[in-house]
Amino acid sequence: MKYLPIFYDLSVYPCLVVGAGEIAARKVRQLRKAEASVIVVAPEICKELKELAENKEINYISEKFSEELLGDKMLVIAATNDEEVNKKVSELAKAQNIPVNVVDNPDLCSFIMPSIVDRDPVQIAISTSGASPVLARLLRARLESLIPASYGRLAQLMARFRGHVKQRYPKMQERRRFWEHILQGPVAEMIYAGQDDAALKALEKTLEKEGSVIDKTGEVYLVGAGPGDPDLLTFRALRLMQQAEVVLYDRLVAPEIVDLCRKDAERIYVGKKRDQHALPQEEISQLLVDLAKQGKRVLRLKGGDPFIFGRGGEEIELLSAENIPFQVIPGITAASGCASYAGIPLTHRDYAHTCVFVAGHLKDGSMDLNWDTLIQPRQTIAVYMGVMGLQELCRELIARGMSEQMPAALVQQGTTHKQKVYIGNLGNLPDFPKQHDIKPPTMIIIGEVVKCHEKLSWFDPQSD
Ligand code: SAH
Repeated sequence: MKYLPIFYDLSVYPCLVVGAGEIAARKVRQLRKAEASVIVVAPEICKELKELAENKEINYISEKFSEELLGDKMLVIAATNDEEVNKKVSELAKAQNIPVNVVDNPDLCSFIMPSIVDRDPVQIAISTSGASPVLARLLRARLESLIPASYGRLAQLMARFRGHVKQRYPKMQERRRFWEHILQGPVAEMIYAGQDDAALKALEKTLEKEGSVIDKTGEVYLVGAGPGDPDLLTFRALRLMQQAEVVLYDRLVAPEIVDLCRKDAERIYVGKKRDQHALPQEEISQLLVDLAKQGKRVLRLKGGDPFIFGRGGEEIELLSAENIPFQVIPGITAASGCASYAGIPLTHRDYAHTCVFVAGHLKDGSMDLNWDTLIQPRQTIAVYMGVMGLQELCRELIARGMSEQMPAALVQQGTTHKQKVYIGNLGNLPDFPKQHDIKPPTMIIIGEVVKCHEKLSWFDPQSD
């Protein structure tokens, strides 16, 4: 190991930055984040640093670097574009045992700066010992996506309770178990979900409990899995999928997505194929409650967004009544996913100022829609579950004044490698299901915006 990673308190003495261009400004930003008092020396200064100097956030010395500036500095960064100056700064600082960094020149450095994942007060520093800053950046991007943004708030909560917990659990081992339980359970999840007050109360409650430190209440994550492409999952969805011990999923969730759940998670299929029975809604809700009461972390994975034609609201009502912690994670809804992947903007300044999402399923052979609001001009209509009632839908829209020539599209299995897009108009759309053997799930998009497909289509999967 060539370098020792350490975390350095910079508040004791000032730091010196030699150079005042864009690169120096980047370094100054980093130092200031660590609450360092910064002195910048250079004959000329860039706009960003000039503003900082004017606001007295840094000290600027408008002259060339000279040895006496090193004085009592905690560290020195050379960021000039003059190699000779950089070299001189390095030599003089090393001679005085002052840590020195020369930007982009590891040979002249006595310390190097890592890539940082910042979840203040949690800091993760990544270094490739200068071998490949690009690799360090990529690694950082991966960690950024895995570690919840609110990790810092969680650490702050823990810091606040450190003393209490120490009193309550004097034995180190017990204390460790307590914190592990908090960090892997509902309290941490509440913080990630922005429920800070609830997290605080839950933590206090757990601390007050007599006996075992392990709270047996599970929790439920109602997660939107998006329209099909696994890349469209949110970071949070993926994290919870890898955390839950039980997964309830249905037909709309692509198998590749279910595969991303924790390998040892129990998988329960609760969906239905058309005309076949699935678990009725009440039973799914009850199952969620029962599993959570067994202390399990339960994932209810739903296609698209759980709150858009997904009955997500109904599924969590019982959880709320039973006081079981839950959170809802939005997903990319089919209308949005299909529209993007078909090159059809749902709104467009020239064609549509409004977009409505409707469910087009038939009830007793007819479609219960507010037709007058649907035939408004400059509006896009995205119809979910509408293929069975396509005839009825187009007939009604035309009968109420919409032109037969109104552009319309069917997007089948949108965002997946099997996606197919069929473009037509209200007049000929009803013939498509027979002509093209349309399969579910399919989204119907109606409106002038459909014209954009010809120019904006970009996703062209190899389908079999
Ligand atoms: N909650 C889901 C919608 C459930 S309703 C969401 O937010 O997307 C089911 C309907 O969604 C299907 O009948 C179909 O119209 C549409 N749908 C879902 N996924 C789709 C996909 N990948 N391609 C096309 N339509 C899709």
